[in-house]
Amino acid sequence: MGGCSAPNCSNSTTIGKQLFRFPKEPIRKNKWLVNCRRNFVPTPHSRLCQATMSYCRTILS
Ligand SMILES: [Zn+2]
Repeated sequence: MGGCSAPNCSNSTTIGKQLFRFPKEPIRKNKWLVNCRRNFVPTPHSRLCQATMSYCRTILS
């Protein structure tokens, strides 16, 4: 059910990947979006896979 919201990423729970929600705090969420250079608007149902998340974190740090 559902896959990673990042464009060009096809990881999903159906292939055994864990998906995570965006941070709820708008500031953190915006940081993620900016640092990930992901040009999309997350919905309440958007998820990111672990690979995408660690990529974002690398850029954030
Ligand atoms: Zn992903």
